[in-house]
Amino acid sequence: MSYASAVSGIYGDILRECVACRAEKIRYWRRKNFQYTESDNHKEFHIYRCESCGTGFLNRPPHVQWLQSIYQYSGQALTQAITLEEVLARETEFPNCKVDAERMSQQAHLFNTSGNDRALDIGSGFGFYTQALRKTGYRTVSINPGKYENEVFRNMNGDEPVAVMFENYEPSEQFGVVMMSQVLEHLLEPDQAISKVAGLLASGGVLACAVPNYDSFLVKLLGTRDNACLWVPEHVNYFTGNGLKTLMERNGFKVVKVEQITRIPFNALSKRLRLKGRAAALVDGLIKYLQAPFAGFMHTFGLGIYINLYAVKK
Ligand SMILES: [Zn+2]
Repeated sequence: MSYASAVSGIYGDILRECVACRAEKIRYWRRKNFQYTESDNHKEFHIYRCESCGTGFLNRPPHVQWLQSIYQYSGQALTQAITLEEVLARETEFPNCKVDAERMSQQAHLFNTSGNDRALDIGSGFGFYTQALRKTGYRTVSINPGKYENEVFRNMNGDEPVAVMFENYEPSEQFGVVMMSQVLEHLLEPDQAISKVAGLLASGGVLACAVPNYDSFLVKLLGTRDNACLWVPEHVNYFTGNGLKTLMERNGFKVVKVEQITRIPFNALSKRLRLKGRAAALVDGLIKYLQAPFAGFMHTFGLGIYINLYAVKK
């Protein structure tokens, strides 16, 4: 196999403009190497940054077929099946997905003036968002390619997501709410995806989305060692609040709310220090106590870990 054909399986086409705002002033930012297994050779990715909206993206991005071959199993780096019990145990130890799902579903519902009670959960993962949307009163359609997540989803919600990538999904109905949590950063053509979402929503309907924040303190602190946002090759886009907002407005949305979310696993430090019993409880308690003021401080400067955005279809 020639070098050119070997490379064509790894990378997609060169990008000439920003994935969020379409500005042509883009510039090389940093390199990130990536290694799938210990023995495998390194793949090198270049991160570009838009000089207009500040959004980052891989350029060249990974090839679509490579990404699809990863996502058919998992969108969350699972290398083997996981049970619903294990997923729920994690949630009990560190409430995270369930809290986000309930907040975003309720918030989206408050903004939805379409009168349409159908919701589309794109990239439904383990199923927390679909569960929350149903609790809020919606009839749902869920799509997700990963078979490990879909197995958990089935055990949680009783039905099965449509196992396709959003690019290949052909809906037959309109929706009042579209949920995209931790999805846009994975999509090679976010502008096309948002344009498609706009076409799926009834007038007055709401798109709720969550993405990692490229301006977060983790990226500032760790640079390319950060994997919350700069997780290569799965995350291909790194949004700023400004970029995400522009992307929505370009596609006919009115952005009605943007907020930052910062949640640090309060049990991570005690685990790393291998603390047990009262010592662990003390450290966990201290971090829990400091969490809210710390997050508030970071959000003041736009440095939160995640961005949540709600946009209404005009
Ligand atoms: Zn841009």
